[in-house]
Amino acid sequence: MSRPPKAVNYDLTAILGLDELEVIRYEDGQYIAMNADHEVPKCIYCGGDTRNHDTRTRSFYDCIKDEEGEPQFIYLTYEQYMYQCLNTDCHSLFPRKIDFARGNSKLTKRLEEMIVHYGMFLSYGDIKCKFENKISRTTVKETISNWTKRHDEDRGAFYTPEILCIISFETTKVNYILIADGVDENKCILDVLPDIGSGQVMSILSRFDKSKIKRVVVDVNPTIVDTIRDQLPGVEIQVHTSALLLCAKKEFELLINSEGPHLYKVDRQSLLKSPQELATLEGSSNEVKWLNDQITYENNRISHITGTKPRIGAAYENMINLYKVLSTDSDYTNLKKWEDTVSIVCPEDFELTIAYIEHYMEELLNFYLRRTKVTMEIYNELVILNNIIDEFKAYSADVLRSKILYQVEPLLAEVDGKTLWRGVPLEKVLDITKKLLNEWRRRR
Ligand SMILES: [Zn+2]
Repeated sequence: MSRPPKAVNYDLTAILGLDELEVIRYEDGQYIAMNADHEVPKCIYCGGDTRNHDTRTRSFYDCIKDEEGEPQFIYLTYEQYMYQCLNTDCHSLFPRKIDFARGNSKLTKRLEEMIVHYGMFLSYGDIKCKFENKISRTTVKETISNWTKRHDEDRGAFYTPEILCIISFETTKVNYILIADGVDENKCILDVLPDIGSGQVMSILSRFDKSKIKRVVVDVNPTIVDTIRDQLPGVEIQVHTSALLLCAKKEFELLINSEGPHLYKVDRQSLLKSPQELATLEGSSNEVKWLNDQITYENNRISHITGTKPRIGAAYENMINLYKVLSTDSDYTNLKKWEDTVSIVCPEDFELTIAYIEHYMEELLNFYLRRTKVTMEIYNELVILNNIIDEFKAYSADVLRSKILYQVEPLLAEVDGKTLWRGVPLEKVLDITKKLLNEWRRRR
């Protein structure tokens, strides 16, 4: 048995573009639609036959895409049939199941997705404007938060990697920690912690089987190092030497800014390049002469600045030395020598770097001694991901989590008959984040 089909407006149905629905008419700014499935369903409780009972109206906020592919806010009125079970013992009254919206939500699922999508581009208030102020800022915030929470819950239990990477990042908008599988051939992001705190780190560690963790690779953040030392006694901790280099580079940049406030931007950039970057500018062979000229030019500029500004000159020399010390063919005792020299020559210029070397000497050596076998290139890729993220202007920690963790297909592991979450492949996350950045640049 099926209900008599009402006159369907196929043009409007195509514009609405929800397979589940047929649009009857457009009236007072509302798309009025019914279910495209005309069959009377079986009882959802007992499986018995049912009959049409009555129709109820549900209103939704929705969005369609206009010709330019831009989302356009619409009101959707759904005429929902109610069905009554004919089984006298059951006699239940129920509506047909729908897939385009969730439970009692006023928003369609695709509008929720669109709000989450815009989270990286716009502030909550701007998203509200994007949808003509028809949805409130609170709705935007809650939609993103609930969307992320639902996906969090779907992850279930976590797979424990042998090498765990716990790296902190600070952007102009949020501070956060990336938890990743540090095994070279895996390279997956397992979680994003929306703050840098020991409580956060302890809570994520409790999701792993601690007995399976062999090594933890961290950056120089004291909160992380101290928490891991405390929570995972006996597990080898490695402080990634690139994190130390990054710290020295930041201190050097601060010095350049204070000692040479009038330096050209290109000169600042040249000073911050590593020796490898300076020596091997990329280009095709017919550009070799131009490149050589460029390298000579940059080196001359650097010599000029370091010669006329002695404090920058001394710090620059120490930066170059640190690159050498941390390269793969250097001896680890050189790190101690570097620290001793800098402590005498310009201690205030590399204050933090010196402090980290002192506090993390053992952990730095742990990394250092394995560096020829374990590349740990994941660290540099996570830094690249953070640099891309930092280019977006507005996002919250919730949005960041949704974008990193739930935009690509996750990997699962079968362990002892259980299906475990093993994270999202970093390579794919990088790809999709770059695409998102391109979209954002186009819109700007
Ligand atoms: Zn029934």
